[in-house]
Amino acid sequence: MRVPAGLLELAALAAIDERRLKLRHQIAELRLRRDAALKTAINASSLSATASARAADVLKSSNEVGAKLAASETEMRRLVAQMESTGGVKEYEAVKARIAEREHLRGELETLALECMERAEAASTVAAKCAGDAAQSASEARDAEARYALAAAPLDAELDAANHSADATSASLPEALRTEYLSLLHRQGGRPVVRCENGTCDGCFTSVGSHAKSRILEGELVRCDSCGRFLLPG
Ligand SMILES: [Zn+2]
Repeated sequence: MRVPAGLLELAALAAIDERRLKLRHQIAELRLRRDAALKTAINASSLSATASARAADVLKSSNEVGAKLAASETEMRRLVAQMESTGGVKEYEAVKARIAEREHLRGELETLALECMERAEAASTVAAKCAGDAAQSASEARDAEARYALAAAPLDAELDAANHSADATSASLPEALRTEYLSLLHRQGGRPVVRCENGTCDGCFTSVGSHAKSRILEGELVRCDSCGRFLLPG
């Protein structure tokens, strides 16, 4: 069977382009997986920073309430000493009333201090968990980066070689054929050259008709009337 000039080169170019498409997909998928791991790590790190800042804030409030409570206790001790050392009944009663007032304030501060300590502890637990998650995600992102580098390198090299090979094959085609091929490549999703199996175009599955079929068999460069693809003998 005769094969028309240029058709073998077209078929070779089509095979290279199909492979290039697959390689690009594979590389893009690897990149997506790596980027997803990186994004997770960035989010976890940002969550951890927020949780850590919140824990620091809550701890600061807790320490402030603690300081107020300590000041209140010092004041109480001072008042008790004043009450014990006073001579007059009237003054004694006045200090006693102030102590009672302060006692109430101290009770409130004690409750608040306890609440603050519990909140600080909870915030610190959350911050520790977020920091752990962030460290884990960072480690996973590093692994993903390493896996990407390892898996993408041979694919990149193969794509590079396929690009050279496509350039060389493309250069060997007459310019008009090359232009038609490229326009088909963009229109037909990477399959500009297909076989004609039993009189049917393998690209769009339309019958090519007996005339076209015999022209293909006679070694002419024939294109499918329906989709425009170049047809190889089946
Ligand atoms: Zn077709």
